[in-house]
Amino acid sequence: MKSLLDCLILFLLTSCSTTHNIKIIAHRGASGYLPEHTLAAVAMAHSWDVDFIEPDIVLTKDNIPVVLHDIHIDTTTNVAKIFPKRSRSDGRYYAIDFTYIELLKLTVHERVDLKTAKRVFPNRFPLSNINFKIPTLEDYINLVLGLNKTRNKAVGLIPEIKSPKFHKQQGKDITLIVLKLLKKFKLDQKNEQFFLQCFDPQELKRIRFKLNSDINLVQLTGDNSWKEADCDYDQMMTQDGLKEIATYAQVISPWINPLLQTRTLKVFTKTAHSLNLKVIPYTIRVDVLPKGVSEKHLYQILNTSKIDGIFSDFADRLIPYFRQN
Ligand code: CA
Repeated sequence: MKSLLDCLILFLLTSCSTTHNIKIIAHRGASGYLPEHTLAAVAMAHSWDVDFIEPDIVLTKDNIPVVLHDIHIDTTTNVAKIFPKRSRSDGRYYAIDFTYIELLKLTVHERVDLKTAKRVFPNRFPLSNINFKIPTLEDYINLVLGLNKTRNKAVGLIPEIKSPKFHKQQGKDITLIVLKLLKKFKLDQKNEQFFLQCFDPQELKRIRFKLNSDINLVQLTGDNSWKEADCDYDQMMTQDGLKEIATYAQVISPWINPLLQTRTLKVFTKTAHSLNLKVIPYTIRVDVLPKGVSEKHLYQILNTSKIDGIFSDFADRLIPYFRQN
């Protein structure tokens, strides 16, 4: 029989070393180390054995889903140099104005600030002439599935449909096109290795109720000033808002910064869990940590808040902390 002292030591050891099981998501691939959404960044993220890799999806002129964070392509490619006359009246270049063959003429680089032409994250990959390309979603999925096979892993995908309203205004139904491609991979149905995200609640409700899909859905919320969709994110983050989200989505994915500033991540997570919603906030960037928070302290907060997953540009840094056992 164990002595009281043995029990106490065992309790102290387990309570000190236990980490909550958090799904680790490589945000835009290994974007802290390589230009975001490139196939090289996918391969690197996969090698870390993350739980999921995150692509963002927009459409080309010829209706090919491609992996890009923005509807614009001027902050991450050399489009202004290759196609100087193809900007719109606002001076911006849009992926949707180019066929995929045209997009293949571009090289992808680290994100730059258009006003200063400097890198947004100065310590990340240099602005180089390496021939990184914009991948199609199909190639991106094939790469992850191929690596799962060769590495005998089950890394999942958690893609985001970008700006369905903008695509609709341009005469395109991005959701239907993406679901059609997913069907090819049998990823258009419920699967614990596959979640679909969107900022637009109307689009998620359409997928669930009108298109009758049982695919796992993630409702992203953010700051209303970003104008991501015609909705009130402040209301959606309330108990009533979460109750509504739980009718169509499995996961709420909030911007983490305000929840850290107001120290409400734990309470928010508890409320969401009580409504059967998982919580996967975004985004950890170890080169842009929230004010007054160290990396280790941040991971401690994530752990004690009992969130279900986290998006990070540096997903590799979370592995030793959350998978120590
Ligand atoms: Ca995203």
